[in-house]
Amino acid sequence: MKRVYNFSAGPAVLPEPVLRKVQEELLDYGDTGMSVMELSHRSVPFQNIIEEARSILRELLSIPDDYQVIFLQGGASLQFSMIPLNLLGEGQEADYILTGSWSKKAVKEAERVGKVRTVSPHEKFEIPVYTPEDFSPQSSYVHITSNNTIEGTRYHEYPDTGGIPLVADMSSQILSEKMDVSSFGLIYAGAQKNLGPSGVTVAIIHDSLVGRASDHCPTMLNYETYVKHESLFNTPPTFSIYVLKLVLEWVKKNGGVEGMQARNEEKAALLYNCIDESSLFHNPVPEKNRSLMNIPFSTDNEDLNAQFLKEAKLKGFEFLKGHRSVGGMRASLYNAMPREGVEALVDFMKTFEADQGGVS
Ligand SMILES: *Cc1c(COP(=O)(O)O)cnc(C)c1O
Repeated sequence: MKRVYNFSAGPAVLPEPVLRKVQEELLDYGDTGMSVMELSHRSVPFQNIIEEARSILRELLSIPDDYQVIFLQGGASLQFSMIPLNLLGEGQEADYILTGSWSKKAVKEAERVGKVRTVSPHEKFEIPVYTPEDFSPQSSYVHITSNNTIEGTRYHEYPDTGGIPLVADMSSQILSEKMDVSSFGLIYAGAQKNLGPSGVTVAIIHDSLVGRASDHCPTMLNYETYVKHESLFNTPPTFSIYVLKLVLEWVKKNGGVEGMQARNEEKAALLYNCIDESSLFHNPVPEKNRSLMNIPFSTDNEDLNAQFLKEAKLKGFEFLKGHRSVGGMRASLYNAMPREGVEALVDFMKTFEADQGGVS
């Protein structure tokens, strides 16, 4: 068996102990004589899985009691629609901060539902500090993408909305560093970056934002349905929730969010230092907005980028190709990427640069 270093932006690397556990109990989950995939979502063993997943997440993020944790399907992309369907009433408007490709997609869906105001930074790779004057006082909510997976940027300081609920797409950031849930109205994340396999989406929603959808809102798109039925109104993605629970246990066992953050800061520093010291590679993001999770880098030469990617693949570094809108390379360093993976990548980058005969 060969395991590579997987730098994919998502679906992404999972902790190896989690995969081993899945393998170990795949045919017989907890003496049920069944795979977890074969268990009824109404059975006690599955009820325990979903309950534990919820409670460990609550513990890891210190989620206050007046927030609900729900499990949905449709990815972060369905949240682009559910958010306005639930929170943007007739004649109301919402503010969206446009910091990259994912926020653009969120805006596109919200515009189908209601009136949207957009606020854009002046620079593609920078996120300024926002204050209440940047938003309409009538706004139902302010939407942000907390970490821009494609551009490799993140907020240095979250916007001060002056009391308007802040809604955050944290797909590529959740559990990677400490954050204060109480400063948000709604947080959501597709699981396949930092939480588990694809198929499940997590939302953390303040009680005041539940039950606001109109009667026209389909049952399955109404947050209230998930809260009322504890995410078991219909069959949830049981296997994904099971793996998510194992990932949360792994995070807890490895120092919780603080432990993850310490390791993530170290890993990101290794790569950023390598890029900054290099005369071949560069990263377009100002230091204060640099993502800990997704790090784009590039040479000035397309052919050299292609050569780098080709050689990297031969060495067992997978999915380093940058998103087409940014070009070059991108390394995603989610929680489950081991430090050794980043060290090996950095060594490889140094060797590659030296082989170019010290290009400057
Ligand atoms: C990956 C990603 C998405 C899309 O997630 P899906 O689960 O594929 O819908 C949305 N927002 C961000 C920030 C992402 O990183």
